[in-house]
Parts: sequence; structure tokens; C-alpha cells
Amino acid sequence: MRNIEKIYIDGKFVTPRSIDHLDLINPSTREVFGRVTLGNEEDAKLAIAAAKAAFATFSKTSVEERSVMLQRLNDAILDRIDELAEANILEYGAPRMASTGRVRLAAANLMDSKEALEQFDFVHMIGKAKVVSEPVGVIGIITPWNASYSQITAKLGAAIAAGCTVVIKPSELSALQTQLLTECFHAADIPPGVINVVNGLGTTVGAELTRNPDVAMINFTGSTRVGKEIRRATVDSMKRVTLELGGKSPNIVLDDADFAKAIPAAVRSCYMNNGQACVAGTRLFVPAHRLEEVKKLARETVESMKVGLPTEADTILGPLVTEKQYNQVQRYILSGIQEGAELVIGGEGHPQGLEEGNFVRPTVFANVTEEMTIAKEEIFGPVLSILTFKNEEEAVAMANNTDYGLGAYISTANLEKANELASRIQAGVVLINGAGFEMKAPFGGFKHSGIGREYGIYGLEDCLETKTITGFD
Ligand code: NAD
Repeated sequence: MRNIEKIYIDGKFVTPRSIDHLDLINPSTREVFGRVTLGNEEDAKLAIAAAKAAFATFSKTSVEERSVMLQRLNDAILDRIDELAEANILEYGAPRMASTGRVRLAAANLMDSKEALEQFDFVHMIGKAKVVSEPVGVIGIITPWNASYSQITAKLGAAIAAGCTVVIKPSELSALQTQLLTECFHAADIPPGVINVVNGLGTTVGAELTRNPDVAMINFTGSTRVGKEIRRATVDSMKRVTLELGGKSPNIVLDDADFAKAIPAAVRSCYMNNGQACVAGTRLFVPAHRLEEVKKLARETVESMKVGLPTEADTILGPLVTEKQYNQVQRYILSGIQEGAELVIGGEGHPQGLEEGNFVRPTVFANVTEEMTIAKEEIFGPVLSILTFKNEEEAVAMANNTDYGLGAYISTANLEKANELASRIQAGVVLINGAGFEMKAPFGGFKHSGIGREYGIYGLEDCLETKTITGFD
């Protein structure tokens, strides 16, 4: 059994005050493989106090010192890359072929923060004023379960680069992964109190972070519902918030695109991370007269993707993280059928031979209309909705007809057209013709997908206060 019995405060692994615990469940088998003892509000307060005390000296460290620490954090993670990848497979169900890359990505975030730190201009002149960037203070980092390594390191890297100290409240569903990551932080020999990690529920540890006056900022990734709760809870203490929230990202394929590439890429984008990705392109918009061709290509793509145990080398789609998530996705698939969408492939239930775990059948719906639940709500599972348009105006209008605004995808042979469409889409990140993400560039959402930007220089700036000083000369 893999029991997580300690939390990390002031450079030490300590026993939480609470005796509450949660079982850790393997999503591939639904078997219990361990348990995590949860911290409570008192533990959060101790961690905040440690972070506050450490801030007094850490905020004064030099760029060089913090740069060395970021390097050490990166190295400590890469030293245990295989173990971290195995935990990602066991606890989260990440396919083996993706898990090592995820750990590398997490480490790379720290190197991107290091680069941003080394380039950043902390003091500059505007007219006769000296403009100084200072660390904002103690940051509460609250993360979800779907990419916990990289979500934690993106936020941690920015905080360390800025000279801030942190209390991390990871998702209760990534306790094992966070434990290993925390051991890496400890091995990196960061001054005590700079990084604190408290397992616990959102309603206890998370809530304490959001209301405690000694926390200057909350850097949150998670659902829009909880993001709104956090924004409300931080009003009285005037905390800064960075909120990376949900999405319902559009994927527009224009008539002149290379469909043989664009449609398989659209399916893969929707199914990334077993369909549990905030930027998944879940709404595919295609010209009405090409629908039959699109359905055929989508079906063939799904048939070529192996759903299976995440431990198997050729598995592309593993299980969903929890039985709850499995049931939720089943409800969405049923709603698609009941509301009259055409099932192209997939459907309710488990794939054959995978009845034990949280495996769902990768699903594609066509003839989806904008009013249907599957076209409106974030499903967080491998369910693609195909909608049709008559012209580009209609495609852009439908793409923007959502409260969300995180990612967007465009495929066309005409790059000028792609740029023009990109300027009209309300989304924080637009990817053209299958391009990947640039991890040093800002990431975040428009509308209900969030506030603030992460990664690289933008992530660092989010953790800084700006002070203007005049008359010093
Ligand atoms: P969630 O909102 O349920 O939980 C996220 C975190 O918030 C967890 O650690 C949880 O314990 C904590 N929390 C819950 N209630 C809280 C409260 N009242 N106060 C403080 N903390 C609280 O999200 P989830 O189910 O873990 O993750 C999936 C969601 O995350 C999806 O909506 C997805 O789109 C979103 N997400 C967004 C991004 C992005 O970058 N925009 C990236 C990944 C995931």
C-alpha cells in the first residue's frame, strides 16, 4: 500500500493534525492502492505562517540565487523521472507513452521560469520615476488532478522566480504524485518554509488559503465553478487571483483545409489526456457539405486509437480519473443520444474487455446543435461534438457562442485567413493547422475561462507588485 501520511511544512515532513483520510484508487481497476491523510485548516495556518516567516528573507534573495534554486528543482525532478511517471500511470491512468513526457514538461516549466527570471527587468526608469517589481508575498497554489505535475511546477516556478513563498494545496486525487514531487522539492534543498505542501479538501485547506489575510495571492487552476467561489472568497482580503478555469474549445476546419490531416488532429485534440484537458477541442465546426467525409475520417481515427490499460506501451486512451468522472461522462453521452445527436462511434458503457476500470468508449457525435448539452458544457471525457456551418461568419459566431474562452483551433490552407479568424475568436490560445503550444508564451482564458496568464515572463509578472518611486535622485 502507498500511504501518504505526512504533509510538508517549513522544510519538514510532518503529521497533519487531522485524522481524516481518503482512499487512493487505481482508475484502471478501481482497487484501493493506498490512502492519504488529509490536513485541515490548522495545518494550512501553520503552513501559511511558515511561508510568511520565510518570505522575509526569501523575498530579498538575488536573481542568481533563485536561478540556481530553479535549476536544482528541475534537476531533482529529472532525477526521479521514472518513479514520477509510474505514479502518473498508477494514480491518474496516464498512458505510459505520455507519462514520461509529462514529467519532462513539469521540469521544463521550472527552466522556463529560470529563463524568464534571468531576462526580467526588476528595476527600470520611466521619466524620473524608478519602477520596481517586488514579490507579491505568500502565494496559495491550488491545483486540479488532470495535469498535476506541470500545473504545480508552472505556478511554483513563477513564484520562486518572483521571490514569493508558497503553500501548495494539490488535488486530493493526486496525493501520490504530489508526495513524490514534494520529495523532489525537499531534495533540491530550498530554504525551509519557501515551499509548503498541505494535502486536504478544497473546503478546508483550500478555503483557509483563500480567506487567510497572510496569503497575498491565489494561483488556481480548476473548474469555473470553484474559480468563482475563490474569487468571491478573496474579496475581503483583497487577494490577487490568477484563475485558470474550464473550457469548451472550438476547432474550425475551413473548406480549403487538408481534411486528411485536420480531422484526425481534431479527434486527437479532443481526446488529449483521455479527454480530460481544459484546452481539448471539444466542438468541431466543419462545412455542412463535407459532413459525410468528416464523419468517415473521425470514425477511422477513433478506430485506430487503442483504448487500454495505461501500462501497455501502445495505449493511447486510458481510464478516466475516478468512477464519478466516468459516471458524469456516461450521463453526457446519454444526453447526446436523448437530445437527438447522431452517434458516429462510441456510446455508453465500457469498451469490451475493460469493464473493471473507469474506461469509456471514445465517442463522436454528429449533427450536434448549439442548444444541446454536449455542445455547451465541459464534459471532461473523450466526447467530440461535430457541428456544421454554412460560411465563416457563422463558424466564428458559433465558436464564440460560449461562456468559455480558453483554446481554439483553426485549420485552413490560407494563413492570412487563419490570422484573420484568430483575431475574431475569443480565446486565450489559438493553434493553427495542428501547431503545438509554446510553453514560454502566456496561457490563460478569456471570459469564464479565467483571469491572468501563466508561464514564462507572464507567469512571473503575475506574482509581482509594481512600485513607482520618485524624488530619490
Ligand atoms: P475543481 O475545481 O473541482 O478542483 C480544483 C482544486 O480546487 C482542487 O484542489 C480542489 O480541492 C480545490 N477546491 C475545491 N473547492 C474549493 C474551495 N471552495 N476553495 C478552495 N479550493 C477548492 O477542478 P478539478 O475537477 O480538480 O479539475 C478539473 C477542472 O480544472 C476542469 O474544469 C478543467 O477545465 C480545469 N482545468 C483548467 C486548466 C486551465 O489551465 N485553464 C487546466 C487544467 C484543468
